[in-house]
Amino acid sequence: TCGICVEKCPFDAIEIINLPTELQEDPVHRYGENAFALYGLPVPESGAVTGILGPNGIGKTTAVRALAGEMVPNLGNYDDEATWEAVLERYRGTELQNYIERVREEKVTIARKPQYVDQIPKQFDGVTSELLAATDERGKLDEYVERLGIAPVVDQPLDTLSGGELQRVALAATLARDRDFYFLDEITPYLDIGQRVTAARLIRELAEEEDKAVLAVEHDLAILDLLADTLHIAYGEPGAYGVVTDPKSVRNGINEYLKGYLSNENMRIRPDEIQFHEHAPRETTKSAPLVDYPDLSKSYGDGEFSLDVEGGTIYQSEVLGIVGPNGIGKSTLAQMFAGSLEPDEGELDFRLDIAYKPQYIDIDQPMRVDAFLSSITEDFGTSYWKTEVANPLQLGRIMERNLDDLSGGERQRVAIAACLSEDADLYVLDEPSAHLDVEQRVQATTAIRRYAENHDATVMVIDHDIYMIDLLADRLMVFDGEPSEHGHAGTPQEMRAGMNDFLSDLDITFRRDERTQRPRINKPGSQLDSKQKRSGEYYYSS
Ligand code: ADP
Ligand code: ADP
Repeated sequence: TCGICVEKCPFDAIEIINLPTELQEDPVHRYGENAFALYGLPVPESGAVTGILGPNGIGKTTAVRALAGEMVPNLGNYDDEATWEAVLERYRGTELQNYIERVREEKVTIARKPQYVDQIPKQFDGVTSELLAATDERGKLDEYVERLGIAPVVDQPLDTLSGGELQRVALAATLARDRDFYFLDEITPYLDIGQRVTAARLIRELAEEEDKAVLAVEHDLAILDLLADTLHIAYGEPGAYGVVTDPKSVRNGINEYLKGYLSNENMRIRPDEIQFHEHAPRETTKSAPLVDYPDLSKSYGDGEFSLDVEGGTIYQSEVLGIVGPNGIGKSTLAQMFAGSLEPDEGELDFRLDIAYKPQYIDIDQPMRVDAFLSSITEDFGTSYWKTEVANPLQLGRIMERNLDDLSGGERQRVAIAACLSEDADLYVLDEPSAHLDVEQRVQATTAIRRYAENHDATVMVIDHDIYMIDLLADRLMVFDGEPSEHGHAGTPQEMRAGMNDFLSDLDITFRRDERTQRPRINKPGSQLDSKQKRSGEYYYSS
């Protein structure tokens, strides 16, 4: 037995080599007999950003509800009435004592950014500026609106905003409050890299300059690295139990997480290590070209938006990473390849069958997941399809659920599966990382790569998560320009040249972590940052 349950583990939980100290104690909270149990709590700290890294369903929201004073944790005694006195007794002499005393006296005020921003228009009916005005408790709102680039949409009704706009509005609305404790559940979905970095900077300023406590759950590891001062890893068995570790340094925490082994806890959380390579991982397999295309251009209306595309070649069975800001013409190019949009200049003598997973997934039908997927492929249910598509995307448990009951992350996995299940010349996945937790990103990355290799499939992946692009792509296509006005698509390049192009435009440099080779964003103006900029090595410092 693992010590959590009296008898044999009913969850087939991960192998527990050595029972960590957290699990030898009673849980912080248990929802009921055989219900989810949470072990350990994160420690909010004034003047600092505390990160939490771990899968969904592991108790992060439960922990926050306790820290926010919305729920008195029962210390595992779900039959008795829970009291703050008992909680305080448990945490006396620990880093949480002061904090819990203040929660007990109802002195802690909180502001919270929800995980699924797409739900906001359902709860708030009105114009964006009305929602925002009510949050301006520190006189900072105008600055946030300006720096997050949402000024153009403040007069629009909320239900007309895109996901990326809603994400930034929700962030401004949360940070503008004057509270003790800020809880941010994922800040990056639908944001491009520039927007992600800006969001991270605003949050750091709030903690540092206003001495606020911020707790952030984030699955984009490059941004988490930039954002947090300390890190709690959350692990366990989603839906069964979760353990929040003691705080670690961010660097160590992410490295241990990638390794799959937590040293202090002596706990293996994943059988395999996630590996990055210092240099471009794969030489482009110079396989047969899938398509050669000439220079192209396209504009909408009377030139409100125009796109120029440099001609190039896409090879069979390569994974082409596509990076660039939102609104720069990426899906316009995909539509031209598909033949559904005619270029104004340049001619395409091919028409590709494209399987397309859009950025905003619209599959809200009262239809079961299994019925939906079996309508797409005859392979549905075969052991081959299960091994290649369903298992790596963890669809087993949600097959019988309805599409319109799925969470954002579940819907994303179904949409990726639907796309890969089609029979197509080219698979285009727009932001497959959105709403996937960090473990699911790793698994989705593996599924997409394996699919490309085993099917000689050509895949274009548009994503803003640098780790995902680094792990996935053979080559890179870089878009730049002025979003919503003019876009330019470069010819596909090797990873190294492509990343340099992309990052020099953003003025961000990455170094490689010495231990794990994972990319880490350099502090602007640091020695390394200046040195790399001088030598034009924005990504692969040698
Ligand atoms: P996370 O924020 O990490 O996704 P949550 O704290 O929301 O996780 O949930 C952890 C687990 O606790 C989930 O399996 C969830 O179903 C369960 N849970 C949450 N609230 C309740 C409740 N009121 N009663 C029983 N189980 C709950
Ligand atoms: P991305 O995929 O990079 O986010 P898109 O190709 O979707 O960018 O859009 C680029 C720009 O073109 C955006 O400003 C968008 O509003 C505009 N646009 C897209 N489709 C149309 C259309 N059918 N008519 C007019 N403008 C459009």
